[in-house]
Amino acid sequence: MKKIFCLFFVCCLLAALNSQAQVSIPDTLQKTTQAFDINTATERWLNTLTPAQRAKSDAYFEGGYWLQLWSTLYAILVGGIFLLTGLSRGIKNLVVGVSIPVLPNIFYIFIYLLLAYVFLFPLNVYQDYFREHQYALSNMTFPAWLKDQMIGLGLMLVFGSLILMLVYWAISKTGKSWWLWGAGIVIAFAAFGAFIAPVFLSPLFNDYKPLAEGKLKNEILSMARANSIPAENVYQFDASKQSDRVSANVSGFASTTRISLNDNLLKRCTPAEIKAVMGHEMGHYVMNHVYKGLFETAVFLVILFALVNIFFQMIISRYGDRLGIAGISDIGGLPLLVVLFTVASFIFTPLTNTMVRTQETEADMFGLNAAREPDGEAHVDMLLSEYRKIDPGYWEEIIFYDHPSGRNRVHMAMQWKAEHLNDCK
Ligand SMILES: [Zn+2]
Repeated sequence: MKKIFCLFFVCCLLAALNSQAQVSIPDTLQKTTQAFDINTATERWLNTLTPAQRAKSDAYFEGGYWLQLWSTLYAILVGGIFLLTGLSRGIKNLVVGVSIPVLPNIFYIFIYLLLAYVFLFPLNVYQDYFREHQYALSNMTFPAWLKDQMIGLGLMLVFGSLILMLVYWAISKTGKSWWLWGAGIVIAFAAFGAFIAPVFLSPLFNDYKPLAEGKLKNEILSMARANSIPAENVYQFDASKQSDRVSANVSGFASTTRISLNDNLLKRCTPAEIKAVMGHEMGHYVMNHVYKGLFETAVFLVILFALVNIFFQMIISRYGDRLGIAGISDIGGLPLLVVLFTVASFIFTPLTNTMVRTQETEADMFGLNAAREPDGEAHVDMLLSEYRKIDPGYWEEIIFYDHPSGRNRVHMAMQWKAEHLNDCK
């Protein structure tokens, strides 16, 4: 912690010195900066996409905005099926005969999660399978897709049941302050999930193996050492079985933190481009984004739980009898809780997107400094535009983007290039 404050202080000092030094930019740099126009270079990169490519990625990404709305409305509909058709009461009657404490709740939760998955399946299969194929963004056969779905469903049933069981246990023990304890339970599981994901969860969907020895790996590890990252290995995974999307990630924390890149990146990108991506991922590590993300998520979850609790109480006080829900401790209220969480999460999407996008922008800047490959970064941004609209409006980006837009990323890379022309290769 001390080290971070120390680093922060040094950075502030350097920034202050730098702002004073801005008055006298060396002549040589001024000349080259003038010769290299940032906006022209940005447009040149954006124009490497054909109008047809842009139209396709715009349609795909903009369709996603509507899908977020439809998914929320669909989730409300599913909640309505549980609460208004007597389905929820039926499940409650079915499990109420079990006399062992806690078990009725577990049975209700398990049946609810399973049925909810079945009800949501039509939208799920359209969004995740047919639509991805419609835009030629998936390499998966239907059986392979279904297999991943079943693994996901299994994880959801195990961890979802466990989390909800604990939340209802907290409700029974803590009464009115349940929402604070509920948020705490979900945060603890989020941290646990982040910790075990790289080692136990991600390998359920993809094969992970160490990146082959060679020049590229040496260069990546050298970059890692130059940034004080104690990485001894870099991992690659076979994302090509799902799609052609290039991506990498830094996942886990504490002893399970690892940097992984996918095989599409290896196949489709030059070493310079791969280094640009790895620089970005290292930025996440160096700037402790996993910990900061967990902290931000914790604050967000407490607010979310508090709001959901208020609205739940308001609805129950008016419609509790009609919905057959006695109070917050009634397991039959679970479908209503899920609807409220879904709606609240939808409303807060611009906020959560901005939380993530801010970190991604920081990682972009770190990556440019670490890899020193602005054109490599710009080319990767073009590849990412296959599934992310490249040039959105100002508010469109704030509301819908969990990463900076391609235009902003390229512009940032070109600005970096303009200001470092003399030390670029
Ligand atoms: Zn990132």
